[in-house]
Amino acid sequence: MRDYMGPSETSAHRQAKWVKRFLYTYWLVIALHFLAQLGSFVCLPYPMGAHEFYYDVLLYPTLLMSAVVGLTQLVDVAAPKYSFVLLFVAGTIIAMMIIHLNMDIRIIGALMLLPIMASAIFFRLDLTLFTSALQAAAFFILYRWDYMFKYYLTDFDLIAIPLFLLVGTLVAGIIIINGRELASDLEATLTAKQDLMIENAVIRKLSTTDALTGLYNHISFHEFYEKALEYGSQGAPFHLALVDIDNFKQINDKYGHRMGDLVLARVAQIIKDHLSAADIAARYGGEEFAILLFEKSFEEAYTLMDWIRHQLSETFHEEMENGAVTVSIGLKSYAEGTTKETLFEEVDNLLYTAKHSGKNTTLTPLTQRNAV
Ligand code: GH3
Ligand code: MG
Ligand code: MG
Repeated sequence: MRDYMGPSETSAHRQAKWVKRFLYTYWLVIALHFLAQLGSFVCLPYPMGAHEFYYDVLLYPTLLMSAVVGLTQLVDVAAPKYSFVLLFVAGTIIAMMIIHLNMDIRIIGALMLLPIMASAIFFRLDLTLFTSALQAAAFFILYRWDYMFKYYLTDFDLIAIPLFLLVGTLVAGIIIINGRELASDLEATLTAKQDLMIENAVIRKLSTTDALTGLYNHISFHEFYEKALEYGSQGAPFHLALVDIDNFKQINDKYGHRMGDLVLARVAQIIKDHLSAADIAARYGGEEFAILLFEKSFEEAYTLMDWIRHQLSETFHEEMENGAVTVSIGLKSYAEGTTKETLFEEVDNLLYTAKHSGKNTTLTPLTQRNAV
């Protein structure tokens, strides 16, 4: 596991929000401390004169703590990269002040544990260790220079408080490591899920298209065909065309199967290039294509298919010594009441007739009648 994962965009945003929450909490702590001191001065016997109390306990400490929090707030706006450091320095100073002013309350030393625990929510071991070091320094400063603090400290406290801070740091460390493992597990699960989605999309593409031509395959053609019939029965016209390459066996025999493949793929590409986005082109079998044409009149569909036939007959393939391949096409519009099988058979018959009337032609029920 990496020691420290740089925060991502969203986690940086989340951290910035937490810094703001901390700052509000500090203001709240300062205000509550102010009120608690005032309350206990008014209500309880207080071992201090009024003047001394108002200045040394209320005014100066509150001003100092407010200045520290105000400075942190300024830094958070002007140079947010230092917010963390200052946030925990400010927390430590507030803890120190409160301990200094309330050292007669023995448990007050535990206040130092709070910045350590608070730092853990950022899941940064470095920040927590830094905060722990600050607490150790604060303890040392109070012990060394605050004679009242030292006065209230027993020999037991002298060992217990640093030990207490050490255990606190350990617990915070465990929370951080555990949390980071959880986060990385979650990330791994998410990545696996994404991989699976991509895999599914790839499989879907592979299962619906033909590898050589990239057109839809036989199975997906039938799915589209059934949908087209459904829309057709609701009044949306469409046309079915079957396209078969002429004399392709000879081309294979003459230039080899591999060259045949390249020609086949190019023919498919040219067909696809001429169709609109609404149309569906499928490789129905070997060198035969099935095409569904939508949003066109019969005349438009005929013009388009015959244009494709014409374009193919003028496309020269270097694999065939710059020769061209031609196609025969059967085309018919859907008519209400026609079944799936009937329409397909009719178009197939047109294709058959095209093959037997010289090939390289587009036959429709109209042109067939003209031809006869
Ligand atoms: P027709 O004009 O009557 O359609 O004659 P044809 O030779 O095209 O028709 P036939 O059905 O006799 O032969 C089709 C040929 O298409 C035979 C087969 O080798 C070839 N073929 C089918 N699929 C492929 C393919 O994927 N690659 C190659 N290279 N050839 C294929
Ligand atoms: Mg053929
Ligand atoms: Mg064929």
